[in-house]
Amino acid sequence: MSFDVQVVRKEFPILTRTVNGKPLVYLDNAATTHKPQCVIDALVDYYSTCNSNVHRGAHKLADEATRRFEGARDIIATFINAPSRNSVIWTSGTTESINIVANGLSQLLVAGDEVIVTSMEHHANLVTWQQACARKSAVLKIVPINDQGELDLIEYRKMLNARTKLVAFPHVSNALGTINPIVELTKAAKEVNALVLVDGAQGIAHGDVDVQAIGCDFYAFSGHKIYAPMGVGVLWGKESVLEEWPVWQTGGEMISTVSYSEATWNTLPFRLEAGTPNVGDAIAFGEAVRWFSSFDLPSLQVHEKALIDYATQKANEFDGLTIIGDARNKVGVLSFVLDVGHPADIGFLLDKQGIAIRTGDHCAQPLMNRFNVPGTARVSFAIYNTLDEIDVFFDALRKVKAMLA
Ligand code: PMP
Repeated sequence: MSFDVQVVRKEFPILTRTVNGKPLVYLDNAATTHKPQCVIDALVDYYSTCNSNVHRGAHKLADEATRRFEGARDIIATFINAPSRNSVIWTSGTTESINIVANGLSQLLVAGDEVIVTSMEHHANLVTWQQACARKSAVLKIVPINDQGELDLIEYRKMLNARTKLVAFPHVSNALGTINPIVELTKAAKEVNALVLVDGAQGIAHGDVDVQAIGCDFYAFSGHKIYAPMGVGVLWGKESVLEEWPVWQTGGEMISTVSYSEATWNTLPFRLEAGTPNVGDAIAFGEAVRWFSSFDLPSLQVHEKALIDYATQKANEFDGLTIIGDARNKVGVLSFVLDVGHPADIGFLLDKQGIAIRTGDHCAQPLMNRFNVPGTARVSFAIYNTLDEIDVFFDALRKVKAMLA
């Protein structure tokens, strides 16, 4: 489908609402995206017509629910070019996906092993590895970044060695917008036979994710960052790796046989999906990805680039504004500080004018320290944002600055 932003906007009921008497300008899409009507309908339709538990029911509704649920898995598998649907594991989101891997890894690590992450991690992809390493006296190494917010690839290569068991990095930084060279990072890690996890929370909605082309072992993402509901996500993993991965939670669905003294495990994907899954949200996730995939991806990328280029140009012209993170390759995320006022004040005063942004440390406290800022104000774009909204935003920011000065 060709791309017309005004047509797209009509699909999002929330965009017609007002906030504090002003039309909503929603620029907090890295935190979560809104949902098009078809996704809302998919959720309502599931609960209205075939709500049932999946896989185990001997009746029509269970059958229909299972078909829709597994159909959604197929849609996701195709979207990320997974070689097998069995390697798509439903989770509650990126955080749980990373925890499944970290929990398993902590059982495999021995003292002196090394794990590498970067300076730009979301806490979900940092604290998790801190904990996994601490349990086994393993060493956590942090790849430095330059002042633009780009990884230091020379230092990264120096960190890799035979003790490196896993490397984890974000596809895209939520706080800076940097798109990392994930194929290059993965290739280097593979030279020392390390496992690779890509935190795809911010990457999934911005490009053509192809897990086979990346060459990673795990790619983790959340539905709510790509127009699907909250509370559902995916851990994709190489089938050969997942088959051997220590089980995460135990309970129903993930077992094959059980006696009073022991149990054997189900095959993939179920062995890593204990208990009743989030069926309705998974189905709506499938619908979101079907909807998103119906657009011409290059047109979406052109739109997003036009937004970030225009916003960056206006930011550069704005007196007293400093951009935090101006990588050469970045998505529609603009993080900044002003010479007056705390980011929290900026967010509060923008909200009074109907504009939603995110302020604070963006779950990346060490990164804020790296840039020597208490936090930033962050504008982040989605498919439905317009150049006009950027004008509205900067006009409002001018008023905010006058108030704070
Ligand atoms: N990693 C990154 C880069 C993120 O942006 C986020 C969400 N802000 C997460 C991990 C965690 O995602 P979730 O809260 O959906 O589990």
